[in-house]
Amino acid sequence: MSEPRTVLVTGGNRGIGLAIARSFAQAGDRVVVTHRSGEPPEGLEGVRCDVTDSASVDAAFTEAEEKLGGPVEVLVANAGITKDGLLMRMSDEDFDSVLETNLTGAFRCVRRASKGMIRLRRGRIILISSVVGLYGGPGQANYAASKAGLVGLARSVTRELGGRGITANVVAPGFIETDMTAALPEDTQKTYKAAIPAGRFATTDEVAGVVRFLASPEAAYVSGAVIPVDGGLGMGH
Ligand code: NDP
Repeated sequence: MSEPRTVLVTGGNRGIGLAIARSFAQAGDRVVVTHRSGEPPEGLEGVRCDVTDSASVDAAFTEAEEKLGGPVEVLVANAGITKDGLLMRMSDEDFDSVLETNLTGAFRCVRRASKGMIRLRRGRIILISSVVGLYGGPGQANYAASKAGLVGLARSVTRELGGRGITANVVAPGFIETDMTAALPEDTQKTYKAAIPAGRFATTDEVAGVVRFLASPEAAYVSGAVIPVDGGLGMGH
């Protein structure tokens, strides 16, 4: 068993982020999740954070560091939104707000986390992207652009901080069993599943397992990588 680490998961109050946070906590790591509103999930420490606001990100990290008793060693930048719409009808606001949350929000968290990681001379940065980032999706120009941008972010961080014991990787989930996919009509689910070599959607735990691997000592030499968790949907990335 490896030493317990300090972990911060953004948007860890529900969905994939919550599964990731619980998985680290079960493995014995010290975990704080960020939540935008409401209460933190049961059994986990939480701090309020809106990733579209630099001051909020800074304050959330400071509070998280107090709760964790030290700097964040593992950052999972998971907070994300969609505002789908066909290109010709997509407003500037719908494009900008998705970029602002998914890409600039991740950048703000990475920038803040890097301070402590540089001091520690170790750190793991894991950015939650999507198969859509490299595969594209009709009606998802904003979302795909934001998720593709995370690849350039992780690779630049790798080049800048790779010599200081810090890795930065991207996880690109495909269709995951969440409230969103459960709400899809059965026919639509069938069509999607037919296009996935694995023939099914993934569980949130299957995403969490890959994130945990990237944070583990075994993955110390993996950096700037894009790891798909998509049942083969996006092969060729
Ligand atoms: P959910 O919609 O269930 O959760 C999104 C999380 O992000 C929530 O905790 C939400 O907080 C938080 N969030 C949104 N905006 C902000 C903000 N401005 N500041 C802080 N937190 C914010 O998403 P999923 O669990 O489905 O997805 C998690 C990640 O995985 C996302 O990045 C998504 O793009 C990606 N992904 C999801 C897939 C899927 O099939 N579900 C597939 C591929 C990738 P709040 O509760 O306050 O709204």
